[in-house]
Amino acid sequence: MQKRILLVEDEKTLAKALKFSLEKEGFRVDVAYDGEEALQVFSRNEPDLIILDLMLPKIDGFEVCREIRRKSDLPVIMLTARDEDIDKILGLELGADDYMTKPFNTRELLARIRAILRRTGQGAAAGKKKITLGDLEIDLIKQKVVIKGREVSLTSKQYALLSFLASNPGRVYSREQLLEEVWGYDYESDLRTVDVHIRHLREKIEERPADPRYILTVWGAGYKFREV
Ligand code: CA
Repeated sequence: MQKRILLVEDEKTLAKALKFSLEKEGFRVDVAYDGEEALQVFSRNEPDLIILDLMLPKIDGFEVCREIRRKSDLPVIMLTARDEDIDKILGLELGADDYMTKPFNTRELLARIRAILRRTGQGAAAGKKKITLGDLEIDLIKQKVVIKGREVSLTSKQYALLSFLASNPGRVYSREQLLEEVWGYDYESDLRTVDVHIRHLREKIEERPADPRYILTVWGAGYKFREV
């Protein structure tokens, strides 16, 4: 699954260069140029990681980080121009995962991003470690799916699809959106790919695949994971 990064940086030239490098590495990047925009994009797009500049117009990086931490444990890498901010950044109050002091090496930043995303594990970036619904249990750290105490073996795409839908319960996704989010295709592709994966997934996790409890079909719209 393509990871989504929210880049918050008011220096347009730096933001542009970073976006370019991150996209080249296969990340999906949203850019916000001030703190207010950052919080808006954060709640709209549910990123996997945030790169957050400290000195920002409107709402500064400290306040943005505090606001984000109120809602989520998702990884935050702070960009700072001053060494003396580091204690505060990494301290309990803000709890950023890492920081880079400007000017920094983009390659170094990429290495840190990868390390953090590896640590948080796929799908677990939003701060959740486990999703449980009825007899179904998804361990987002170990990437294991258990039904009635028995582990179910899924292919990596089946797992990616299930954990994506289950991480966003009740939200309806069209097949196009699922292709984009789970497969990373943002072009017209064979939508039956999604249907076939959903079918196989249901055969594995649903007691009665024809009358599913977990992954529901929304006619004319797409699929959604049942809300608790
Ligand atoms: Ca700045």
